[in-house]
Amino acid sequence: MARVRGKNTGPELALRRLLHAAGYRYRLHDPNLPGRPDLVFPRKRAAVFVHGCFWHGHHCPRGARAPKANAAYWSAKIARNRARDTEAVASLAVQGWTAYAVWECELKQPAVVLARLQAALGAPASASGSGDTASASAA
Ligand SMILES: [Zn+2]
Repeated sequence: MARVRGKNTGPELALRRLLHAAGYRYRLHDPNLPGRPDLVFPRKRAAVFVHGCFWHGHHCPRGARAPKANAAYWSAKIARNRARDTEAVASLAVQGWTAYAVWECELKQPAVVLARLQAALGAPASASGSGDTASASAA
C-alpha cells in the first residue's frame, strides 16, 4: 500500500490542479480553521477536505478494503479519522463556514467533481491571476 500522508497527497494535488485550471484561487491547509481544511476559499467561507477513501472509511470498494493484518488497529484509526472529520465540519459550521468533502474515488471523474464544486462555490472571483494566490497564508 502506498504511504499516504495528511497533506499534498495525490488526490489533493489532482483537485488543486482541477480547481486552479478552472480559475479558482484558494489557501491551503489553513491552520486557523477546525480540521485544517485542505483547500480554503475565504471570501466564500467554504472549506474543502480531500479524503482518502481508505483512511476516512468511504462507502466505496476502496474504502471497504480492510487490511487483514492489524484489522483492529486500522478500524480504530479510521473511526478516529471519521470522528475528527465530523467534528471539523460541525465546528466550521458554527463559525459560519461550509465544508465540502471530495473523495479520492470521485476524482476518477474530475468533471463531475468540478461541476459539483462550481455549483457550491459559484464562479471564481477572478481568473486574471492577480490578487490572492495559492501561496497566501493566514497570519
Ligand atoms: Zn471512495
